[in-house]
Amino acid sequence: MNLEAQVETLKSAIRDVPDFPRPGIVFKDITTLLQDPVLFRRTVDLLVVLAGDRPVDRIVAIESRGFLLGGALAHRLGAGLVLVRKPGKLPWKTVSASYELEYGEDSVEMHEDALGAGDRVLIVDDVIATGGTARAVGELTEGLGATIGAYLFLAELTFLNGRKQLAGHEILSLIRY
Ligand code: AMP
Repeated sequence: MNLEAQVETLKSAIRDVPDFPRPGIVFKDITTLLQDPVLFRRTVDLLVVLAGDRPVDRIVAIESRGFLLGGALAHRLGAGLVLVRKPGKLPWKTVSASYELEYGEDSVEMHEDALGAGDRVLIVDDVIATGGTARAVGELTEGLGATIGAYLFLAELTFLNGRKQLAGHEILSLIRY
């Protein structure tokens, strides 16, 4: 199977859930992909290919589905794993960054000692939608002195143009909608 066909098998395994969590949103449910042993392995294999030969010290994974892909990827690349979580979840001292939602604001946190100067990082999540979350994570990453090698997503909702939030950085995605 060629690369394009392999990516297509992943795309077909992602379930669209209309009107979740709110009316008008089509949620990309990756549980149907993760629970398939062949396709989960293929997903991680292809993310490794996408990451290429960039030097990576740490994977920065975004709560919560980003943890699943980021953990597997860190293991495969021989990189450390850093968790980005919603406020109040991390036990140690944190740094935080806010981003705009449709209504209001949300924020993400990272341990203040999770990254340091000279660390080369891949930021990983399952889906990029508006790009606000990824952008806030990028601010945390650079705020701690690390360098963003690339942003890596399993799926990109291109019609929301999240890329423009991450201008100036390399953005890699396996599946596009
Ligand atoms: P955003 O900040 O708008 O790019 O949203 C990205 C975050 O929200 C990621 O952590 C995604 O997992 C989640 N997300 C946003 N939209 C969707 C969607 N349509 N399907 C699945 N996850 C989504």
